[in-house]
Amino acid sequence: MSSYIVSLDQGTTSSRAVLFNEQAQIVDITQREFTQHFLKPGWVEHDPLEIWECQLGVLTELLAKNNLKGVDIAAIGITNQRETTVLWDKNTGKPIYNAIVWQDKRTIETCEKLIDNDWEPIVREKTGLLVDAYFSGTKVKWILDNVEGARTLAQSGDLLFGTIDTWLIWNLTQGKVHATDCSNASRTMFFNINSAQWDGDLLKVLDIPSTILPMVKDSNAHFGDYQIDGINIPIRAVLGDQQAALYGQLSWQKGEAKNTYGTGCFMLLNTGEERVISDSGLLTTIAWRTNNTITYALEGSVFIAGSAVQWLRDGLQIIECAEQTEELANAADNEDHVVVVPAFSGLGTPYWDMSARGAVFGLSLGSGKAELARGTLQAIALQTYDVLTAMQNDSGIKLQALKVDGGAIANNYLAQFQADILEVAIERPKNLESTATGVAYMAGLGVGFWTEAFIQQQYDIDYRFNSNMAAEQREKYLARWKKAIKRTRGWLD
Ligand code: ADP
Repeated sequence: MSSYIVSLDQGTTSSRAVLFNEQAQIVDITQREFTQHFLKPGWVEHDPLEIWECQLGVLTELLAKNNLKGVDIAAIGITNQRETTVLWDKNTGKPIYNAIVWQDKRTIETCEKLIDNDWEPIVREKTGLLVDAYFSGTKVKWILDNVEGARTLAQSGDLLFGTIDTWLIWNLTQGKVHATDCSNASRTMFFNINSAQWDGDLLKVLDIPSTILPMVKDSNAHFGDYQIDGINIPIRAVLGDQQAALYGQLSWQKGEAKNTYGTGCFMLLNTGEERVISDSGLLTTIAWRTNNTITYALEGSVFIAGSAVQWLRDGLQIIECAEQTEELANAADNEDHVVVVPAFSGLGTPYWDMSARGAVFGLSLGSGKAELARGTLQAIALQTYDVLTAMQNDSGIKLQALKVDGGAIANNYLAQFQADILEVAIERPKNLESTATGVAYMAGLGVGFWTEAFIQQQYDIDYRFNSNMAAEQREKYLARWKKAIKRTRGWLD
């Protein structure tokens, strides 16, 4: 009897392999970083072969370290950085260009042309996304237009496209399976989230031939097998990283949401089988499709969250480590109301203002590093307030509790202030590895390794932060925040 599930977590800066035992506990994690290529300003690339070798390396290391053989592994789940685009030759297995990473901005002009030609409302209606260089569509077009011979290869049916999940599945199955799941497909900007099919009109305007596209499967489908010691291990779950975190947080029901506090913040709200259209700059996306039923989500993004704390440490050098901000915030002067707006690269949901820039307001002679640290933590929570308010307005759903994960929410000051400002309880689970956990749960359920009832018992809260701030005080914080946001907007001409 197999006794483990393995998650492959392919992130933007590192690849990880995570081992779960029968009790659904994490037994071990192996991790390796890989090279980031910044060829020009705004360009970000990865070498797909390095990603594959790195992912295979951590998997092999995990098995060796724990003395595991093929018979010990019941199933594999894959979760990945989203939108990042790879095109490869199916005969040689070699990419025809590096992977163009989600952060890459080289296709902004193509996006502007699409917007000028009135494609934005069509893209929104069909895909739930905005026209943006962030998504795969214009990246695929760029490779096809700029790599010599790419279109000829596509015409002869020898070129394949994939997001990172597809690239890993193809390699794990030795080229047998060319497939993706609905959550990853929904981030390409040419997948119709209403019909759950590649969209002919969008493929045409982006000039992408349908011959290169992977088959789109349920997120909990059987994506082929990876052989270990001659034994076939089924790949039984595939989800984009934010969707995997939503699943791992057991936000399976309509109205349940999670927020991840990492470098930036990503909030996803499960809207069930209903596709909610946002008026407030949120994206509509597919959370997962299981057993042919789509679960939709609304998604909001804050660009700068934990990275503002890194700025205090590395830029201003007023703290030595991120954890120190908690003690400083607790010691800050209650009469001092420094407001930090960390709009270092513009503002995300709901403002989408790329010309906003960061600012610090309300400084007095008494303001020091404690007040700056507190203002920075509060800004993470206040930006999240803006996202959650947009979500509640668009969906009509009022949250009872917000499930959280990510490195920065270990900060108790931040977590308490977040609960206070949202008037919503913050549930911090013991296991903050929601992403890898999400696909482990899905894969384990798929092969009958666990039952849903068992998985639902796994949610173990480390701490529940209840809202505990007087309404008057909350209103003052929100008023100061709104005033500060207003003054940072449109800063760049
Ligand atoms: P990512 O996955 O985006 O790399 P992590 O989930 O690992 O991010 O979280 C790291 C981020 O959280 C960093 O930006 C760091 O500054 C911030 N962070 C980590 N610990 C704390 C803390 N105790 N208080 C505030 N911020 C923190």
